[in-house]
Amino acid sequence: MSDNNTITVDEVDVAYGDLQVLWDVSMEVREEDDIVSVIGPNGAGKTTLLKTLSGILEPMDGRIELFGEESTGLRAEEITDRGFVHVSEARNLFGDMSVYENLRMGSYTERESFDDTLDEVYEMFPVLKERRDQDAGTLSGGEQQMLAISRGLMAQPRVLALDEPSGALAPQLVERVFDTIESISEDITVLLVEQHVDRALGLADRAYLLENGRIVDEGTGDELLESDHVVDAYLRGSA
Ligand code: ATP
Repeated sequence: MSDNNTITVDEVDVAYGDLQVLWDVSMEVREEDDIVSVIGPNGAGKTTLLKTLSGILEPMDGRIELFGEESTGLRAEEITDRGFVHVSEARNLFGDMSVYENLRMGSYTERESFDDTLDEVYEMFPVLKERRDQDAGTLSGGEQQMLAISRGLMAQPRVLALDEPSGALAPQLVERVFDTIESISEDITVLLVEQHVDRALGLADRAYLLENGRIVDEGTGDELLESDHVVDAYLRGSA
């Protein structure tokens, strides 16, 4: 059954050449959920999953439906147009272009709509407004992360995927990023890949645990927070 409000990943396998990395992955991201989290150790395949959803990689088997339409085989730009936007771990900012120009690059919409979205982004991140003429490459790490998230928002996504948004940030900024994610999720569904397992699950309506390329546990965020496997492998000693 196709569902216009859901991203459905159905038994997807993904490989890099001969090296298979995702095995039989099935999951759902529903627009009525605020935050869907994917957790798992380094190398589990989380980034590969996001790259597959965003059309950078193609599954060798299985099917992905994006808001009721099959997306397998679509180009990355077409997937962005349909409302799935991926903010990569690498951030991919244009370092020698200004903050404003980077935001402009994120927008695929007409002028009026661009101006409205820009106002919203500047309201959420006043520092980006203050620094709109500064080269992105000279922003601090935290500011660059805000800019990368904002550039994703400029495309007015239905689902915004964030790959380790708190990665490589100072601890005081990590909280700031999670607060931001929470406020974004009031309007837009966030698909969140995170190493901060307790925070990612605490915020999640639905969550998946990926290990060795397979989904090994799923449920509400609270259910995973109480799962023996999650507690033993990811939470014990981290509190
Ligand atoms: P991390 O939390 O460390 O970012 P991850 O869960 O996002 O890890 P992936 O980056 O998806 O994991 O990597 C999954 C596996 O695929 C790893 O074993 C990685 O070495 C491998 N891999 C990733 N990219 C490539 C590539 N371009 N070519 C070959 N193997 C790759």
